[in-house]
Amino acid sequence: DTPVLRKPAWIRVKAPASAGYAGTASIVRGNRLHTVCEEAGCPNIGECWEKKHATMMIMGDTCTRACAFCNVKTGIPGALDAAEPENVARAVATLGLNHVVVTSVDRDDLEDGGAAHFAATIRAIRAAAPATTIEVLTPDFLKKGARPLETVIAAKPDVFNHNLETVPGLYLTIRPGARYFHSLRLLQRAKELDPTVFTKSGIMVGLGEKRNEVLQLMDDLRSADVDFLTIGQYLQPTRKHAAVDRFVEPAEFDSYKAHAYAKGFLMVASSPLTRSSYLAGDDFAKLKAA
Ligand code: SF4
Ligand code: SF4
Repeated sequence: DTPVLRKPAWIRVKAPASAGYAGTASIVRGNRLHTVCEEAGCPNIGECWEKKHATMMIMGDTCTRACAFCNVKTGIPGALDAAEPENVARAVATLGLNHVVVTSVDRDDLEDGGAAHFAATIRAIRAAAPATTIEVLTPDFLKKGARPLETVIAAKPDVFNHNLETVPGLYLTIRPGARYFHSLRLLQRAKELDPTVFTKSGIMVGLGEKRNEVLQLMDDLRSADVDFLTIGQYLQPTRKHAAVDRFVEPAEFDSYKAHAYAKGFLMVASSPLTRSSYLAGDDFAKLKAA
């Protein structure tokens, strides 16, 4: 067993106590929604829910992949819920979300990887909550051909997000089942299909990657025309998951952020508690206003 590293002082979580948080929580429970915020035990839930940002998880709670960093259960998922797009849209409207992130488990069992379900969810939210900006965080649609991505982009999300998660040298151990250059190409094609859609990707650090590998990954993303980048500390969900290699210091996150802006990203979030969807709406609203 690898010893578990002690969390440093900068990994601190505020208790979710605000009235805004409580209101969001009761609507989420009342609509029986799955949110990544709750399922992943996200440390930012107090802050995000108070600001009316949430990440919805569609297509069930069982994934066909088994990434070494992820706490979602692996297995054979059930059938899609045809009412889900409407249910999610109604909840987004009731919650009055400024920005919603819609993500899913990987559905390698479905012919289109779930692309049509994503597209239906985007359209339903657009109709029910026209002022809410929509970000999708999709699977990689590996071995599904070009059509799934075209289907998702045709539904016109505001932001298309797909996480590289880590540097290519760690894929075999951390993200088996995925391919670094396939994911990169997916992001590039999203931008080619519709240049008005912002593209976004993110990684976790503290998994054993080297600094020069992170800087190279930034170059790879920029050469694929990716607009936004998130970098956060990996935290081990349970002892069965990949061990934390090290806790990256806040100053190093700041340095990554400075490098990323210098390389041309439009928006960068880089801090220990940054998550793929952390304050995505805030930053996006600022960008649209600029
Ligand atoms: Fe978790 Fe996504 Fe990997 Fe499935 S594909 S195990 S949901 S990170
Ligand atoms: Fe939810 Fe993302 Fe905020 Fe975490 S960072 S609480 S997953 S919206």
